[in-house]
Amino acid sequence: MTCHNQKKINLEVAERDFKYYIFDWDDNILKMPTKIHLERLSPDGTWEPVAVSTGVFAVVREKKDEYRPPADGGWEAAYRDFRDGAGGANLFLKETAAAIEKIKSGEEKPGPSFDTLRRTLREGRIFAIVTARGHESSTVRRAVKLFIDSVLEPEEREEMMANLRGYRRWLDKREEFGTDREELAYYLSMCHFNAVTHPDFRRRVARKSGDGSSENAKKFAIRDFVAHVSHILQRTGGIFLKPVSIGFSDDDPRNVQAVASFISEELSRSFPAVKFVVYDTGDPSLAHGRKIVVSGNGAAGAAPPAGAQ
Ligand SMILES: [Mg+2]
Repeated sequence: MTCHNQKKINLEVAERDFKYYIFDWDDNILKMPTKIHLERLSPDGTWEPVAVSTGVFAVVREKKDEYRPPADGGWEAAYRDFRDGAGGANLFLKETAAAIEKIKSGEEKPGPSFDTLRRTLREGRIFAIVTARGHESSTVRRAVKLFIDSVLEPEEREEMMANLRGYRRWLDKREEFGTDREELAYYLSMCHFNAVTHPDFRRRVARKSGDGSSENAKKFAIRDFVAHVSHILQRTGGIFLKPVSIGFSDDDPRNVQAVASFISEELSRSFPAVKFVVYDTGDPSLAHGRKIVVSGNGAAGAAPPAGAQ
């Protein structure tokens, strides 16, 4: 650690492993109070409106005889609180703040990847949020900023800034640094905040890949982030020198399954030097989820024996 105009710069970041994360948001980082609006078949045969949590939804969505999206508005209406607009942006930020408050007061346990996001931020590593929500990217970014401001302790934020300056010196050969606010904004501009059901994002996916389905939108977001990381590392020449690992965490077994297949069938071929790890965080009895190494040895030149990690 060296100092520059009284500002700490952690030059040791250049010696670190290359570990990056892609996080799902709901029930992975935070247990959000956002409700999905459905209709439930009542015993008298009528459909009654009911609002369920994402956790409950994961269980009831297969019960198609019993639950359905609102007759008026369909899935768009079911997910209306997961979008911006008509106060939507504010609702997400308000609910994020409330969810963090519950953790701080001990009322609620942190999500399984809460600590990993906290550490990722403290270490100044780039990351992606990939969520099935439909917010503007800037809204998701504001939620992460809120996380930085309200979860990280002052000394953790200082450590983060020293690491960010270290990366700037190492990767961008910077001698002078901006204000903390500017450097933090630069860092967040290197991260991806993708709410994959936002119409703009879906259009971008459709334009670039010809398939704007929500299933493909999530894959697109993951591939886009992996390509981004790989691009940054190639600039340093480091991709050939040190293991690179990219972790993906999600509490929804269907996403975990889809992403694991996507990695082994596609991504691992496009990025053979990357070790991909999927964290299935759907089991509340496991504090940080179940770790699945999907593919890759994490080093182009030196493969560890199979099963070594
Ligand atoms: Mg989730």
